[in-house]
Amino acid sequence: MIKESNQSEIKNKNVLLRLDLNVPVFKGKILSDFRILKSIPTIKNLLKNNNKIIILSHFGRPKEGLYDESFSLKIIINNLENLLGEKVTFSKDWVNGVNFNGNNIVLCENVRFQKGEKENLPSLAKQISCLGDVFVFDAFGVSHRKEASTYGISDYLQTFSGDLLKNEVMNANKLLSSEKRPMTTIISGAKISTKLTLIRKLLSKSDNIILGGGILNTFLMAMSHEIGDSLVEKSFIEEAQEILNCADSKKIIMPLDVMVSSDTSLDNPEIRDISMVQSNDKILDIGEKTINRYIKVISESSTIFWNGPLGYVEKSPFDNGTIKISKAIASSGAYSVVGGGDTIPIIEALNLQDKFSCLSTGGGSLLKFIEGEDLPILDKLGMYRI
Ligand code: ADP
Ligand code: MG
Repeated sequence: MIKESNQSEIKNKNVLLRLDLNVPVFKGKILSDFRILKSIPTIKNLLKNNNKIIILSHFGRPKEGLYDESFSLKIIINNLENLLGEKVTFSKDWVNGVNFNGNNIVLCENVRFQKGEKENLPSLAKQISCLGDVFVFDAFGVSHRKEASTYGISDYLQTFSGDLLKNEVMNANKLLSSEKRPMTTIISGAKISTKLTLIRKLLSKSDNIILGGGILNTFLMAMSHEIGDSLVEKSFIEEAQEILNCADSKKIIMPLDVMVSSDTSLDNPEIRDISMVQSNDKILDIGEKTINRYIKVISESSTIFWNGPLGYVEKSPFDNGTIKISKAIASSGAYSVVGGGDTIPIIEALNLQDKFSCLSTGGGSLLKFIEGEDLPILDKLGMYRI
């Protein structure tokens, strides 16, 4: 059922198109339309060839099998129509058949409302596949998941890789094979458990490793520093220690100071030397001396990979480190690849999108790609990693 060929060959068809339109939302407002924007060229190219399009996407993590308005994809319809300049029909109940209602595009309600989506139930995949003539997979952000709409459908329909997917894979491969040295990897954010494996992998590939966020806290604890009441995953201390014991650990650029708050409301920020953190402090950002040390490394780099905010960016001034690091990468002139659902909106807020070589729609999938883990649909599509 797999055809490793260009989506531009698809003409006059009903196309089932799996996108990643999982936009970040806060209090009912879309924080970033980055993923919608990146999907527009694929949709337009398919329309140009006289195709009709049935769009599938997930949105958030609703309870499977239940409709829940707060996870309705209806939220994106205006953004999608405005960015496309086309009318889009929204279909709440689509699994047994869609009605285009005079338009060329149907957006199906959150695919994760369907029972069997997550476990890749063959009967669901088969049922969905009946909606279209061909399947285009263009959701790089979920290519690490083997679900009905990210994988199962390809068992029943001729499947093509979408334009965005190809681009993402090309950029990630370009990063992995980059010979422009020095290469600096910046790993931060909250999801420590998912990122330690990545550090292991990138430790050998990179010349410098910069840490921030919960990951930095875990490493500080592994180095026997007091980290007070900071975000940490204690079960990963041993793994962090192992990493610190290996020869490549000297590539980790050590922080000098951090920004903390000892206040429950996270007010009254203070800068502390990393050896001066108190037991009731929360480390919420890197300090000025650390920022300057990191910026120096960044400015001397030729390849940069960045994932994850370096501090608690939701509350100022704990976004200070992340903002300054973003600006430093933007002006470094290095080949820069950035991924992460919480990282991209920061770059957008600073209006620095054009200063980065590649902003990926992938978060976990990009990390898995770099780690060399199995990405089922990419393997099936024959999109190999270097
Ligand atoms: P991404 O989605 O870009 O991969 P993550 O989801 O791993 O990033 O992490 C983003 C979150 O990490 C943000 O909500 C941010 O507030 C949080 N964070 C980063 N540093 C800290 C810190 N020191 N303390 C608490 N939260 C932090
Ligand atoms: Mg995140």
